[in-house]
Amino acid sequence: MSLDDHAEELASALGADTQEVREDLENLVQYSVPIEEAKSSLRRKYGDGSSRAGEPEPAAIGEIAPTDSAVTVTGRVLTVGKRSIRYQGQDQVIFEGELADEEDTISYTAWEDFDLAPGEAITAIGAGVREWEGKPELNLGSDTTIEKSEQSLEVPYEIGGESELVDLEPGDRGVNVEVAVSEVESKVIDGRDGETEILSGVLADESARLPFTDWDPHDAIEADASIRIENAYIREFRGAPSVNITEFSVVEESTEEIAADASAPRHTIADAIASGGMFDVAVRANVVGVRDGSGLIQRCPECGRTIQKGQCRSHGSVDGVDDLRIKAILDDGTDAVTAILGTDLTAEIYGGDIAEAREQAREAMDQTVVAESIAEEIVGREFEVRGTLSVDEYGANLNATAFAASADEPGDRARALLDRVEESERAAVMEGSP
Ligand SMILES: [Zn+2]
Repeated sequence: MSLDDHAEELASALGADTQEVREDLENLVQYSVPIEEAKSSLRRKYGDGSSRAGEPEPAAIGEIAPTDSAVTVTGRVLTVGKRSIRYQGQDQVIFEGELADEEDTISYTAWEDFDLAPGEAITAIGAGVREWEGKPELNLGSDTTIEKSEQSLEVPYEIGGESELVDLEPGDRGVNVEVAVSEVESKVIDGRDGETEILSGVLADESARLPFTDWDPHDAIEADASIRIENAYIREFRGAPSVNITEFSVVEESTEEIAADASAPRHTIADAIASGGMFDVAVRANVVGVRDGSGLIQRCPECGRTIQKGQCRSHGSVDGVDDLRIKAILDDGTDAVTAILGTDLTAEIYGGDIAEAREQAREAMDQTVVAESIAEEIVGREFEVRGTLSVDEYGANLNATAFAASADEPGDRARALLDRVEESERAAVMEGSP
């Protein structure tokens, strides 16, 4: 194909003047730009007008696949979060959020400031697609043209990032919340630019309690303060969502007082698992079993992991340090979770400390007797358990901060009834005796 042929074909596809296209093409080829690259560059140049030739076909959000290289997509901006990341050694400000059409949503990252605002309807022409956690995500950059539409697009999703804490999930961007500061402390960390002061603690609303980090301390964040935070982002911290506040977040005193309930919201195990993890949750459930690795256990002195027969997976043969732990299977009829109880809670239930457990194991010449004693205490009984629930590929764990027998436990009621029956029987026997 000659240059003339290329020019003619391109001009007719773009609806542009053949002579003009030919000159442009000749210019580019003269500077050793390969012909195909020169043509796509001209498609972009002429394509910015009414013609859409050379642009990716318009796609509905639900049709976009992680394997697509570029798409043209129309949707409504739901959220816009702004933050700074370090990319190839440089600090770069990026914008992130979600775009929706009538049926689906998709996350986007904008590497340039397209001046996006929640509620706007846009068409992103030539948006890149990448895979993020198995799902497609849009990359809006220098190859992308954003056209803002005058027409509104009705979408069945909430516009703007107003959220309750319970609804937040890792990956959420541009989030706004009204919360109480339940706990806060200042820390100095070794950050990417040396020592930096940050704030961390716990935020609460009526729906949940979540940990937070403020990477650029805001004055309004004080213990017991009711605050409104705009433009936070959520990431996972120890298996549960955590609120991240940055230099781009706006934090102000709230016009309303928000109750910082110190108690954890109660959920069914199924709901807590379905939420993907909860930082502080209470469940009421029966202990249906005690897993291996409960009772008297040994930990590696280097890394603290539990060891088997004196062998640490990372440190080889080590002198184990004794500890107490319970891995109890909780079931509340909706689902099951493994509650993990540390040294102190375990000692309380066992009714003895590590030394006493060691003594019992030595006498029995078998350390599994400790786990058996614990199982006798708790299996078949109902407990109120509070802690951090996390979900991973191996299942759900609840790291317990509190573990107490249910106040109105059916087992207790039955025992109390039995005690009364026995007493009256005893009384009857005594009365009947001469
Ligand atoms: Zn180790």
